[in-house]
Amino acid sequence: PDPVTRIVTEARLDYTHTPGRAQSAHLAALGEQRIVGERCPSCRKVYVPPRGACPTCGVATTDRVGVGPAGTVTTFCIVNIKARNLDIDVPYVYAHIALDGADLPLHGRIGGIPYDQVRMGLRVEPVWTADGRHPDHYRPTGEPDAAYDSYKELI
Ligand SMILES: [Zn+2]
Repeated sequence: PDPVTRIVTEARLDYTHTPGRAQSAHLAALGEQRIVGERCPSCRKVYVPPRGACPTCGVATTDRVGVGPAGTVTTFCIVNIKARNLDIDVPYVYAHIALDGADLPLHGRIGGIPYDQVRMGLRVEPVWTADGRHPDHYRPTGEPDAAYDSYKELI
């Protein structure tokens, strides 16, 4: 008989995530359509989403800081492969977005603009899900593009 070279099988991974102090505050704020990070008391960087500690300084982050809601696309990719169970037409853009006041970009989908018009420096704002619990995607604000020097350290 021919050797088995491929098997298609269902896979499932269940897990329980405990967000901890910093992420709990972040998630609670998202439920109010606010985005909060935490500032490192040593280097003053603002991390969003917060992890509870600064990976550079190794100290706990304690000061909660509101950021955004608008931000700047620092880099992006065009997604051409449709994900199973995801109702998003391809191609679409997934980007790193530096929210105003944050020192680390987060990632999100860009909508409201043709994929081939997304660019570094594009100013965007969140569009919240119908239940308002988190941004579904980010759309252009209509502001002029940010100057490269304003986000070059966040790429
Ligand atoms: Zn630090």
